[in-house]
This record gives sequence, C-alpha cells and structure tokens, in this order.
Amino acid sequence: MTFRTAYGNTHSENGWRICNRDACERIYVPGADNQFLAAMIVRSGPSEVVLRAWAIWYHRNVERLDLFKSGVGDDWGWSAANDVADSNHLSGTALDFNAVQYPWGQRTMPTGRKQKIREGLNLFEGNIFWGADWARADEMHFQLNGGTASGDGASDKLKAFARRLESGHLGLLAASPVPIPTPAPVARPTLRRGSTGGEVAYLQAQLNRMFASYSKLTVDGDFGPATESVVREVQRRSSLTVDGIVGPDTWRAAGVK
Ligand SMILES: [Zn+2]
Repeated sequence: MTFRTAYGNTHSENGWRICNRDACERIYVPGADNQFLAAMIVRSGPSEVVLRAWAIWYHRNVERLDLFKSGVGDDWGWSAANDVADSNHLSGTALDFNAVQYPWGQRTMPTGRKQKIREGLNLFEGNIFWGADWARADEMHFQLNGGTASGDGASDKLKAFARRLESGHLGLLAASPVPIPTPAPVARPTLRRGSTGGEVAYLQAQLNRMFASYSKLTVDGDFGPATESVVREVQRRSSLTVDGIVGPDTWRAAGVK
C-alpha cells in the first residue's frame, strides 16, 4: 500500500490519504454482471468493506449497477488523475454509480429513487456521503464521509461499522469471499463528429468526470461540436495531434485503458 501527493495534496477532501492503485482492490457485487463493474476500485481495508456493502445495498434496493454494458461499464472508483485536485476518487474512497444516467451538475434522478437512497444512507449511519447534497449536484457520486479517516487509514467508527457489516449486520456481505471474474479486454471504437450511441455517452460521462473544469457535456450519446471541442482541448493539453478524433491515445488521455 503506497501513498502519494497529487496536485500538491497529500489528503483528499474527506481526510483520507491519497494513494496509488496498489492500495486498492476491486469490489464484487453478487447478482450483478461484474465484468461491467471492473472500474469499481476502492481503498482496501474497512473502507472497501463499507463501500462494497454500500454498492451491494444500492444494487439490491435502488437500481442495478450494471446498466451500462460496455467496456468496464460506467461505475467508477479510484482514479490516478482527477480534475478536482482533492477529489476523494484519488484516495479510493469514492464511487460513481451509473454515471451515464446521472451527469455531474444535473438533477436527473426520480424522487422515489432519491428517497430510497436516503433510507440507505440512514442505515449506513453517516459513514456514506452523497454528492447530491453538494450545491453542484453529483447524483452518481458516493464517498466515505468526513470523520471516517484517522491518520492514514480508517477511524475507529468506520472500523467498528465494517466489523458489524462483516458479521452479518444488514445481511449484505457473504460469509465467504467470492472470486472476482476478470473482464475481457475491450477494444474501444474510434469516435468522431457524427458518432452516436452508448460509447459516445460513455466518453462524454468520462470527459465530464476527468476534466470537470472545462467539460460540462450533456451525456446524450451524440458526438456534436461541443464534444469535439472538449476532445480537442484534451488533445491539446496532452500534446496529442489535435484532430478531434478519439482513437487509442485520446481514450488513454481520457483515463480509459
Ligand atoms: Zn465521483
């Protein structure tokens, strides 16, 4: 488990130490098609236990997490880079669920679904914070709350809650660990002005997530001038050929392997 400094910060907004990939692991959600949850990577330890339990609760009670069945899906956890300098994704303590459906900065979630989520947040006793409660709404985003970190790791409160979950509290976690299937590698299609469909929606959601300061795209699966202009900006800042066409290098620059 190794830590690092990102954008001058050693800790993310919720007080957790910013870490490398080796401090994290993948979440497994029983009953979901886990090959489309391969980017749900979170900080190992009590943080993983609580975030996994939250993902399982959400999948069972709110809506499926594997709705977007392409590539690694549109559910995201840890990231090496982020446009928000102290993002909790950098410390592996945040998850985005069904990102294509819930564009950052917009309120698209139906009321009934939101009420269900409130019930779940109560069951999790303040350990989970929801991005919908920010002034700039982020309905896809859930994270370990402030007060869940201590030093470089978990607070006593979070450890105690994780232990209770592991001993059957809320009936979410299996007694024995389940093997996680390896996702099949996916070749991303080349996208350009005029492209449409799920892969474009995925690209738009990913651009909004990674480059929030200048990417505020409507996630509509339609590669128009606005999407092209963001793609060109990403290419310019990554020293790539600025052609507005999304091939392997540009996908990589957008944080998609
Ligand atoms: Zn997020």
